[in-house]
Amino acid sequence: MLVLGSRVIRAMSLAQVSCSNAASIALHHAKKLESNISPYTQTMRHTLERRQWMTERLHSAILERRLQLYFQPQVDLNTQTLTGAEALCRWHDPEWGWVSPSEFIPLAEERGLIRLLGDWVLEEAARQLSVWQAAGTPLPGRLSINISAQQFADPRLTTHIATLTSNISPSAIALELTESDFMRDPDQAVIITQAMRQAGYALFIDDFGTGYSSLSYLRRFAADALKIDISFVRDMLDNHHDRAIVQTIIAMANTLEMKTLAEGVESAAQAALLADMGCNQAQGYWFGRPLPADEFTRTWLND
Ligand code: C2E
Ligand code: MG
Ligand code: MG
Repeated sequence: MLVLGSRVIRAMSLAQVSCSNAASIALHHAKKLESNISPYTQTMRHTLERRQWMTERLHSAILERRLQLYFQPQVDLNTQTLTGAEALCRWHDPEWGWVSPSEFIPLAEERGLIRLLGDWVLEEAARQLSVWQAAGTPLPGRLSINISAQQFADPRLTTHIATLTSNISPSAIALELTESDFMRDPDQAVIITQAMRQAGYALFIDDFGTGYSSLSYLRRFAADALKIDISFVRDMLDNHHDRAIVQTIIAMANTLEMKTLAEGVESAAQAALLADMGCNQAQGYWFGRPLPADEFTRTWLND
């Protein structure tokens, strides 16, 4: 039994690892669960070992430029035309196969790799935009790039982005930040978002509806669009509460002179209802899945 502040850690199954190892794993787990008592188990040890191993392999993959960007179309709900695309990071490990971003992005954030990864994403996105321009098939609208909280904590982020994407006009780029990342330090977010807008980047608030924005900050963030989170879009046809939330977000965006983009649209019925409700744009499997650059070019830019 280990007592640390108010936390009491009970470390069990100590036969396989040293006492201090087991205790630190149990502490890590207890912190994650925000609970006071956590049993140490084999499963926890395997999880931590896999995460450590994954961190090392992800680090090499970034340094050796073995990550990829996929591109998912964003579509105008009235005209059904392409308004842009979102760049989504993909990692194929030679042994493990595809690793989901919902696993490796939080890991990169936790282990201090996200700035390195984010820099690669920005450079690669700018490179792809210039390839499309040079080929005479420029991407209409803007390419959305996801920015994580740690990148956003850098007060010189706007100039850093401009340096990494210097071959591309800011008018070709939108930056996506999640609502909860904005709200970590809202005053700092107001300053950075204004600098981004002044430099010519568009700003989208990602996963909107999940992050407790206050209305006064929302007005000051100077965002161009709210991306309505997939969790409200998923059940909006059957669940009148979710439908009401979507309608409220659209009304709020209209009042604040922002556009709306619905995430995770998977059916014609969802797309039609969103268009009726006044939502401007959508992204989702109904319109197109994320594709590697060459397939995206063939499907969306070649006619
Ligand atoms: P996100 O930025 O909200 O991206 C949208 C996610 O929804 C993507 O998951 C996309 O593949 C998925 N999606 C799109 N349409 C549909 C649909 O119709 N149905 C369903 N069920 N899902 C749909 P993905 O690619 O797995 O990425 C997950 C998250 O990982 C992203 O959420 C983003 O937060 C993060 N991420 C991905 N690439 C990057 C990156 O380059 N940098 C950073 N910082 N985060 C990234
Ligand atoms: Mg996004
Ligand atoms: Mg999202």
